[in-house]
Amino acid sequence: MVDCIGNLISVSLKESPPPILIPGRMQSLHILREVFGYREFRGEQKAVVDHVIAGGDCLVLMPTGGGKSLCYQIPSLVRAGTGIVVSPLIALMQDQVDALLEAGVRAAFLNSSMTSDEANRVERSLRAGELDLLYLAPERLLTEQCLQLLARSNIALFAIDEAHCVSQWGHDFRPEYIQLAVIRERFPGVPRMALTATADSLTRNEIVDRLALDEPRIFTASFDRPNIRYRIVEKDNPRKQLLAFLRDEHEGDVGIVYCLSRAKVDETADMLVEAGLRALPYHAGMPSEQRRLNQTAFLREDGVIMVATIAFGMGIDKPDVRFVAHLDLPKSVESYYQETGRAGRDGLPADAWMTYGLADVVQQRRMIDTSEANDQYKRVAIGKLDALLGLCETSGCRRERLLDYFGETSKPCGNCDNCLVPPRTWDGTEAAQKALSCIYRTGQRFGALHVIDVLLGNETPRVREWGHQHLSTFGIGKALSQQAWRGVLRQLLAMGYLSADLEGYGGLRLTESSRPILKGTQTVMLREHLASKPAGRKSKSRRDATVEIDDSDLGLWEALRSWRAKTAREHNVPAYVIMHDATLKEIVRVAPGTLDELSEITGMGVRKVSNYGADLLRIVERSG
Ligand code: ADP
Ligand code: ZN
Repeated sequence: MVDCIGNLISVSLKESPPPILIPGRMQSLHILREVFGYREFRGEQKAVVDHVIAGGDCLVLMPTGGGKSLCYQIPSLVRAGTGIVVSPLIALMQDQVDALLEAGVRAAFLNSSMTSDEANRVERSLRAGELDLLYLAPERLLTEQCLQLLARSNIALFAIDEAHCVSQWGHDFRPEYIQLAVIRERFPGVPRMALTATADSLTRNEIVDRLALDEPRIFTASFDRPNIRYRIVEKDNPRKQLLAFLRDEHEGDVGIVYCLSRAKVDETADMLVEAGLRALPYHAGMPSEQRRLNQTAFLREDGVIMVATIAFGMGIDKPDVRFVAHLDLPKSVESYYQETGRAGRDGLPADAWMTYGLADVVQQRRMIDTSEANDQYKRVAIGKLDALLGLCETSGCRRERLLDYFGETSKPCGNCDNCLVPPRTWDGTEAAQKALSCIYRTGQRFGALHVIDVLLGNETPRVREWGHQHLSTFGIGKALSQQAWRGVLRQLLAMGYLSADLEGYGGLRLTESSRPILKGTQTVMLREHLASKPAGRKSKSRRDATVEIDDSDLGLWEALRSWRAKTAREHNVPAYVIMHDATLKEIVRVAPGTLDELSEITGMGVRKVSNYGADLLRIVERSG
């Protein structure tokens, strides 16, 4: 018989563990505690789980790190049959399945990297009802063979992860996602859940429509990520700024550096390597084998910095990413939020850091304008970019602004640059008038550099070539520095008082809204230039960069970490699949003396206690 998934499915290369569950008999809370080792459900998890167990469709909106996986994993264990998880992230299926196997859950995946024997084994297990969870890529699932295989099996639910991939507005759009509506026709009565960390209302409605969810309940968790510290600094020699950020605050830490172009990724990775850091590039222009190797190194080794385009990262669920740095401006608040959200999934402190300057604004506007897209798309894209510029330029709390974008009200957070060092604002009306009239007098065709030269009264060859030393605006801006003028122009551009000529070379032009400023009927408040380093955070050493451990406990902490590293190598999985930092940290704090005490620790399910309990107790005792 021809099996689904044509040229081959992949199963985890390990044997499935013997079942430790009796689906249908165990209650969800019991599973949470025994299998996953967590005491309580978080936020909306319990409501989602109950709803799906009862057979309802739903849409689950939770930020990255919010705990979406348990929302489908637990119902898959409670309901009869196998939970099917549709995910576009083939590269990560292995790690997800490994983590489940570690917890004693019978999980497998099918993808194109496997031999037919492996594939057949998974299919047999599925039909025999021996799988709790099966991960599939959408294009696999949509093959007629696969749909038939599933029809012959007992299916507990469908979980469509990264559901925002149905949205044509987002950069993660996958055409196959639209076809997933077919599940409704082929498997009536089987509950379907869509899950995503992208929550604007446009995307939300598209998901419900396109997946044809039936009267879905919509669960929305708070999108706040309190452990992430947001910082946006003014661009001024970005390489030097990045290096200082990495050296002062993240030595030896795992992190991601995002750049817009492939060339800049390569350049930046080289620069970091030359500076003695462990950095690797990742972009769609590299050979796929090299990309895979770099991704594996990032996931498995300690302290790798991945320098990447946005091709890297969707669904990266490495929990201990300590920083996400942006050298270029993303397209929208959603992108910024999603990319920065890859930091600190484990709940421990993490940084979202970005350098941002005048050229970023010009570049992003130009990318929209020169794109092939239709006018409606361009309007949406410009609106989205403007919201992000508002976030960059705000003098208020960044988090408040971010959450407001997702429809949540909040208070100043105390953990962003603007809260830590409130920026001063000044009345920039006169400066704005000078800048605008200088742009007008020079013919609205020059970029920021030349305009600033004229304002400062610099007699450059270019100034002389155009005779601009004779203009009335020549030298009227000597009271401000070059950098201050860049800040003025950037803010005027971001606020729409200026536009950049998009066909030519980014020459600055006045807009309709410049008029009231020139006439003196409108004032402009500007912020002083963005602080490059917030006070209140001292440079940190390697060890407390990740978690705070008392000196007296360092021995135990290191012993646990080296045990984990060794175990992970033996099992050929990333360290976090064996145990999260948060779990090790709690072991250090509690110093358990018995298996019972150990099983009280967050993340220690029954399977982990039985597999590793004796080892762990011995390590604790030896360091005591
Ligand atoms: P998401 O898929 O939403 O990004 P995950 O499902 O990967 O998030 O969960 C993020 C982290 O939170 C994981 O380390 C997970 O083990 C942990 N977690 C999830 N739910 C709970 C809970 N109820 N109690 C403790 N930890 C949890
Ligand atoms: Zn704040």
